[in-house]
Amino acid sequence: MNKHLKNLLLMIPPVYKKYIIIQKLQKENINYKNEVIKLNNDIIKLNNEINLISNKLFFYSSLKNNDTFRWFYKNKTEFDSDINFKDFKNIVLEMNDEVIKSIYPFNISAYCDICKKNVKMRLNFNVGSISNGLNIAYSEDCVCSECNLGSRQRAIINYYENLNTHSYENDIYISESITPTFSYFKNNYKNVIGSEYLGNTKQSGEFYDYNGSLVRNEDLTSLSFPNESMDVIITQHVFEHIPDYNKSFCECFKVLRKKGALLFTIPFYEHNEKTIIRAVINDDGSITNIHPPEIHGNPVNSEGSLCFQRFGWDILDNLKSCGFINVFANFYWNRCKGYIGGPYIVFSAFKE
Ligand SMILES: [Zn+2]
Repeated sequence: MNKHLKNLLLMIPPVYKKYIIIQKLQKENINYKNEVIKLNNDIIKLNNEINLISNKLFFYSSLKNNDTFRWFYKNKTEFDSDINFKDFKNIVLEMNDEVIKSIYPFNISAYCDICKKNVKMRLNFNVGSISNGLNIAYSEDCVCSECNLGSRQRAIINYYENLNTHSYENDIYISESITPTFSYFKNNYKNVIGSEYLGNTKQSGEFYDYNGSLVRNEDLTSLSFPNESMDVIITQHVFEHIPDYNKSFCECFKVLRKKGALLFTIPFYEHNEKTIIRAVINDDGSITNIHPPEIHGNPVNSEGSLCFQRFGWDILDNLKSCGFINVFANFYWNRCKGYIGGPYIVFSAFKE
């Protein structure tokens, strides 16, 4: 293992498994709240140290070299055979196991690729799950205090801005319009269209009132844009809510120009070759749950959105079957830039 890499990994904020602590404390009849406050004081101390080290390291290394660890794979076989990645991943997992689940949010210092400066990034670990240990969804966390973008949002922007086809003039469609990511694109690029999905009774390309402002509706399985009219399409955590996701991939392909790129994030199960369908939609519009319903937050629907599938590597084949030539899963990790955890993935699919 590369020493530099190991040093970087060692700087991830350590956190205990809160539920294990609670169990332990309950057994020993110890006042849980006081103990957690003590733990939090330790975190603050520790975190200050981490920040000092990482800031130093950042200025000595990252400022000169872009050391974002980015692995990219074309399929599961390629991914499975990368021993270096496994080594790295195991360390990340061990670290997650040691992480203290703080009851208070705390900040780390990191360089924001979007703000182009050192900022505070907030960790509150509100999103995650408990199965075989605490799984913190770092991808949903580590929010920059200046641009309000979480780690996976910054990663997808960073990915786009490093493409050689990246341009201020590009026609960009992003399947969100009331989010910090959309604001970023709107403020920094010339031709940006955003939309939300407001339900199957609404028309694609039409505007509807949403909390007093007009919002464009688009259904990703039936977009209103002319063929070959966009250079980039960006979606974040949307495809898992679309039963016919393959139709959406093909729809995006149709709307993209030559050399256009579809960039997206999804919850991804890297150990699964095949996508697991969790729910299906019937001809009469009713839903049959194959697995217990999994509901994700949705900015335009307080009831959230049902997750129809858990994606595996076969979606890369789906994308190719729609016509995309080069399709990649790009893994992101860089402590100094606040891409921590996972690592999580930005998917990219390019039209010839
Ligand atoms: Zn920022």
